[in-house]
Amino acid sequence: MWVSPDVLFYKRMSQPLANCEIIAVGSELLTPDRLDTNSLYLTDQLNGIGVEVRRKSIIGDDRARLAAEIRAALLNSEIVILTGGLGPTEDDVTRDSVADALGRTLVFRQDLLDTLMERFQRLNRKMADNNLRQTFVVDGAEPLPNPRGTAPGQWIEVDIHGASRLILLLPGPPSELKAMFAAECMPRLTKRLPPQAIGTRFYRISCMGESDLDQLISPVYKPFENPVTTVLAGLGDIQVHLRARAKTADEAEALLQQIAPCIEELLGDRIYSRDGSSLEAVVGNMLRERGATVSVAESCTGGMLGERFTSIAGSSDYFLGGFVVYAERLKTELLGIDSALIAQHSLVSAPIAEAMALQARARTGSTYAVSITGEAGPDSATSAPVGTVVIGIAGPDGTATARRYNLFGDRVGIRNRATTWALDDLRRAMGGNPRA
Ligand code: AMP
Ligand code: MG
Repeated sequence: MWVSPDVLFYKRMSQPLANCEIIAVGSELLTPDRLDTNSLYLTDQLNGIGVEVRRKSIIGDDRARLAAEIRAALLNSEIVILTGGLGPTEDDVTRDSVADALGRTLVFRQDLLDTLMERFQRLNRKMADNNLRQTFVVDGAEPLPNPRGTAPGQWIEVDIHGASRLILLLPGPPSELKAMFAAECMPRLTKRLPPQAIGTRFYRISCMGESDLDQLISPVYKPFENPVTTVLAGLGDIQVHLRARAKTADEAEALLQQIAPCIEELLGDRIYSRDGSSLEAVVGNMLRERGATVSVAESCTGGMLGERFTSIAGSSDYFLGGFVVYAERLKTELLGIDSALIAQHSLVSAPIAEAMALQARARTGSTYAVSITGEAGPDSATSAPVGTVVIGIAGPDGTATARRYNLFGDRVGIRNRATTWALDDLRRAMGGNPRA
């Protein structure tokens, strides 16, 4: 029997919250062609019952390497779930590797053979000899029925020097895995686990630099290990996640309350979503609630803002359309912007952005209009430095305002950010507080 002094650590822990490790088995998962999706499903299910997934790995069909991975996983996690490698062929090594890791043998089960033979009879097919491999389980394992396939799962409880461990072997095909996990594993896990819960908060924030945001809120969350706070950033859109673990949902909520109100106060109106909704969805809902419509006039984004509005199902309720006026000539011919005004102020300027928004609003009859004019680079085609973007908003009172931004990034980044900043300016024009 394999022994490690590390497991003594777990003996000292009084009723630890259960952590899980997932090992996806299959050489195909190490190629560019196949993705391990089973672990995403399992993580979602486990989080729902308060179990945190601490590590995931993908191991090819290699018996020794897999056995080593299982040994290491058993050191660190109370629950180890393996998916895949339970098929009938020689390259399906999960059963053997688990037996190796535990120093146990595989034992034949007549009941599994009976079930398998019945299945083949029902389908009027002859059973191949190698299917016999699927009638063996690790000594001490409880087989889990698989109504959708030939590979039974296995539920193995082991005690390693007083530390209890649960090992689950589940089939690779996602439909078989999901059916088995839902029917066989979830009810037993909920009964077996100490009571525990995960509480979360999820904020989306626009138009702030990642480092500015972290500087603002890290003094609040840094002193706390629980909740765990993560900051994810991309193209002017930041997500802040808080995850608290405790024995009950109330306790998890109390842990969240230690920092969540403070973070919410610091970020204020910069938080545009608390349920994961995208900025375009939030702005769309605000327009719908107000019975308002919107149109666009885009220069350097070439239609990307219209694309974001219309990516939301049902956007025809509020999005009318607009103008892609990339060339200066179309700004005058399509939108009627006075060429003298362009000559006086230049293309990337507040008066031009305001005129574009006002004209788009007048020509479409929309409640609001949003305009974008800017220099996306890499070479400056206008007199403005690369990254300069001016966004205009025309509103129901018939006036327009424009804001000038210096956006960061390459051409892709600047154009994407310009649309985010434009959506956010519209959000604030509809009732958000002015951004600091
Ligand atoms: P196996 O049980 O290893 O024979 O896997 C059977 C099939 O299940 C594979 O060919 C894959 O299509 C699929 N599969 C295995 N593991 C995964 C996984 N982690 N995520 C998604 N599909 C998988
Ligand atoms: Mg496989």
